[in-house]
Amino acid sequence: MLSPFRCILLGAPGAGKGTQLTRLVKHHPDLCTVISGNLLRQEISSKTPIGLEVENTIKKGGLVPDSLIIDLIFKNLKIEKLLNDSRSWLLDGFPRTVTQALKLDENLSKHNSLINLVVELKVPESVILERIENRWIHQPSGRVYNIQYNPPRVPNKDDVTGEPLTKRPDDNAEVFKKRLETYYNEATPLKEYYQKRGILHSVEGETSDIIFPKLIKLIENKFSV
Ligand code: AMP
Repeated sequence: MLSPFRCILLGAPGAGKGTQLTRLVKHHPDLCTVISGNLLRQEISSKTPIGLEVENTIKKGGLVPDSLIIDLIFKNLKIEKLLNDSRSWLLDGFPRTVTQALKLDENLSKHNSLINLVVELKVPESVILERIENRWIHQPSGRVYNIQYNPPRVPNKDDVTGEPLTKRPDDNAEVFKKRLETYYNEATPLKEYYQKRGILHSVEGETSDIIFPKLIKLIENKFSV
């Protein structure tokens, strides 16, 4: 049994956050996840006003405005009924800036459900770059495949729906380099912020198989009751 944990997963794009999340949810089926990139991509594919506003920024690898993503995340936390709740949940891709982190804490403190764990996945950059070339996604669900390490059962088709897999438009070399740079610039102050709160941890490794047991151990050490 685990006591409720409210976690932020940090890691460079391509560090395997999506893969770790899928495995974590299999391991702890009650865990709820909110993934900022997926929420934004859903807005884009549904052509909502938010989607139209952010499409270009995302294509270029920039960050969308703080206020927009903060509203979207909180709308989702409410829809999923995660505020004032005893369930464990995890945020992936949010917060990306200290402004977002401050706003998150300000709002969560009103609901007595502050973040109690921040984990950074650390993967060497050379490994990340190779991974991105092999990454394909099923956009409607956000499921991620790696044609080398985690291929779909049928080439180019999603395992669950059989629908076609696509490349993310921001997964090309030039835009990807910009996203990596953006991550390193934004993550440093963010990590300092959570370090000061004493809840920052990291798990390191070249593959998801090396990282996953470390992540589980960290969570279970801290939250087993
Ligand atoms: P991701 O799937 O997490 O790599 O996010 C894809 C893109 O969505 C990013 O490159 C940003 O353009 C945008 N995005 C996702 N989360 C945030 C956030 N917390 N703040 C600003 N932009 C974000």
